[in-house]
This record gives sequence, C-alpha cells and structure tokens, in this order.
Amino acid sequence: MERLQKIIAAAGVASRRKCEELITSGAVEVNGKVVRELGTKADPTTDVIIVKGRRIASEKKIYVMMNKPKGVITSASDPKGRKIVSDFLTGIKERVYPVGRLDYDTEGLLLLTNDGEFANLLTHPSHHVPKTYLATVKGVPHGTALEKLQRGVKLEDGMTAPAEVDYHDIDMDSNSATVSITIYEGRNRQVRRMFDAVGHPVTRLKRIKFGHLGLDNMQRGKFRHLTLSEIKELR
Ligand code: URA
Repeated sequence: MERLQKIIAAAGVASRRKCEELITSGAVEVNGKVVRELGTKADPTTDVIIVKGRRIASEKKIYVMMNKPKGVITSASDPKGRKIVSDFLTGIKERVYPVGRLDYDTEGLLLLTNDGEFANLLTHPSHHVPKTYLATVKGVPHGTALEKLQRGVKLEDGMTAPAEVDYHDIDMDSNSATVSITIYEGRNRQVRRMFDAVGHPVTRLKRIKFGHLGLDNMQRGKFRHLTLSEIKELR
C-alpha cells in the first residue's frame, strides 16, 4: 500500500504537490469512491484509481540485483556528488530504491525495486532474511572470537542474533583472514561492528548472498532483472 498522491505522481499525472490538490479537490476516485483525504493509502497494482475520469496505469514493478562496487553510495542522491547506485542502472527509467543498504565501502549484492511493499517486507526485522558476507579482517580470528560472533556479540544497540561463521581463507603473510558470515538482521554497519567488537577490524567487505540469491559471477557494476521465481522465493 502506498500513499495515493505518490501513486498518482508516479503514474506521471502531475507533480506530487499538484496530485495532492487533485485529491483534496475531489478529482480522484479509488474503487468507485471519491477520496479527499491526503493520507489515504491504496494498492497501485489492484485498486482502480481514476483521476479526472481517467484510470491511471499502474507503474510496472521492477526488481533488479546489482554487484555494487565499493566507493558508491546506496541512496537516491548524494549532496557531495559521489557515485550513486542508480548511475549503474542503464536503461531503467523507473525510480528504484535499494532494499536495505550497503556501506559506501562495501561491495556486492544489492537488490533494488520500486515495489515498496516488497522492500519493507524484506527489510522488516521479523523477516530474518539470511545475508552472507565475505569479510577480510585484520589478524586471524581464533576459536573464541568465532564463537562469540556465532552466539551473539554485544553492540551498543544490543546483542546480535546468532550468526553462521566460517573461515574462507587465511593469509599468514599479511596476518589477515577472510571469513564468511551469515547474519539474519540488518542493522547499520552490523558486520563491521561485530568484527570490531571481537578485535578484528574489517578491511574489505563483500555481500555474496541475499536470501537464496547469490552474486555468482556477476561483474562489478553490472545488474540484471530478477526472474519471477526469484521474486516469489524472496517473499
Ligand atoms: N554490514 C556492514 O557492516 N556493512 C554493510 O554494508 C552491510 C552489512
């Protein structure tokens, strides 16, 4: 469900402000009833929305995954003029939003969509979507550090939920290790903070899985549309 003025504006009828005026002036009907309340929500895919006697076309839903390079911002705009993820989505005219965030310095699998309900569902804490990262860290985390990460570590916003952790690679020459970690939450900078908490700061972070979706061999900066069955499986 989305706010009516947002749906009408997204359908290209007019600016958001003008759409609000259309609603309050009584020019908008939802499922046969005039709606004048600005806070009213509707489902653009199932509700019949009529503006000044004409039904509006519902916006096509787009679901893409990309391999975000590091040094790119996961937001719709950046006041500092840095690269943003939508710079990479060539040919996509719809305005899409990231499903959760990856830090500026984190690379890897990022989902983007214009389906607000889908994005909310997947980022809601109760949904527990597994997300797997490869974290290259300073030093080689030993048994207790790994156990703590697995059982839960104390962060300033509370204990983390159990996670799965495994060695991926150990580089004795540079005294570093790459560890795969699967978490079921999505707190801000969570993986970096978890490794900080056990004394092994992250030097490189890459998300390689989101739910059942894997990054596979997708090249950095590339994207593709999800298939219907991939979308269904994520819900
Ligand atoms: N955890 C982090 O610390 N950073 C990310 O970008 C994602 C998860």
